[in-house]
Amino acid sequence: MIDLRSDTLSMPTKEMLESITIDKLGDAGRLDSYGRGEDRAVNELEDYSSNLLKKDRALFFSSGTLANNAALLTHCNAGDKVLIDEIIHIYKSEKFTFTSKGGNLTPLFYKLDENGTPSIESLREQLENNNVKLLIIENSHNFAGGTCITLEKLKDISDVAKAYNVKIHMDGARLFNAAESLNVKPWEIVKYVDSVMFCLSKGLGAPMGSLLLGDFKFIQKATEVKKMLGGNMRQAGVIASPGLYALKNNLKFLREDNENAKLFSKLLDNIKNVRVQKNVETNIVMLDVKDSGLSAEEYCSRLREKGLLIRPVLENKVRLVFYKDISREETEKAAKIILELDDEL
Ligand SMILES: *Cc1c(COP(=O)(O)O)cnc(C)c1O
Repeated sequence: MIDLRSDTLSMPTKEMLESITIDKLGDAGRLDSYGRGEDRAVNELEDYSSNLLKKDRALFFSSGTLANNAALLTHCNAGDKVLIDEIIHIYKSEKFTFTSKGGNLTPLFYKLDENGTPSIESLREQLENNNVKLLIIENSHNFAGGTCITLEKLKDISDVAKAYNVKIHMDGARLFNAAESLNVKPWEIVKYVDSVMFCLSKGLGAPMGSLLLGDFKFIQKATEVKKMLGGNMRQAGVIASPGLYALKNNLKFLREDNENAKLFSKLLDNIKNVRVQKNVETNIVMLDVKDSGLSAEEYCSRLREKGLLIRPVLENKVRLVFYKDISREETEKAAKIILELDDEL
């Protein structure tokens, strides 16, 4: 079975797990006045991350959702208006901060343009007409098909947000896939935002964990929010060490993942019954199955019978995600399976 449901399926390697060492472990939740815990592996990972992305400080979380939640609750108070797009992960999938059980934040929506990136006009219009507290962007954008926001566009977004005195949080779960695709350094991307979250557990292949980065004051506050949300961990070096290993060793796989996704979409050039996402930029490919005569669920179960596992994500859309454990051969095989089904429709 070729499993392209998500890059979270990427497996840690033996070397990665062997990077865990007992001597660095400590109580990561026992904080000093600076807000740092006693697990040296966690601290090392945080320092490495903040250096890599040229932000003041980084804070380690067990998941991206928790890090995003902490970020939003640090930037905002209940009732604040937060500007997002309708298919952004934080709203579409995580939801918590926008519910009455969670942060009670009020969502306002900006439009995505034909490239799957924020429309500047739409941003400006919303900022002009509302008292917005925070703007959230996602780079690469998962449900838009792994689309990337270029540095030029980021600058425009940052300029318009600054004009209205609004901070920006970036969901950069796949920040490094975006950097690879845009051929820029990751820090050049996050330079334009006040806070950013990235995942170790997606294409980087670590078992779990995410980092939240921002300036000193922001992370100091986020440290308190993290504790309130139950985010403090103890000997968290057991997950921080594989995470650091992943950052140091696995960035190089992301180029292949992006290339496999592009190859895959190219191999589907002559497909008849399904619309393939144009301009695949990173490791995600979306297929629109509306005209196939099958629902997204039916389409996926037909593929499953042929040995390809994928998932419906939005109405009529299915998503394929490439990651380090998927070879070029498997990529070609996956395209063959899709074309085989296409002939049967
Ligand atoms: C996976 C993902 C997250 C959340 O990360 P978890 O570690 O699964 O909680 C957030 N945003 C995007 C875009 C993601 O793909």
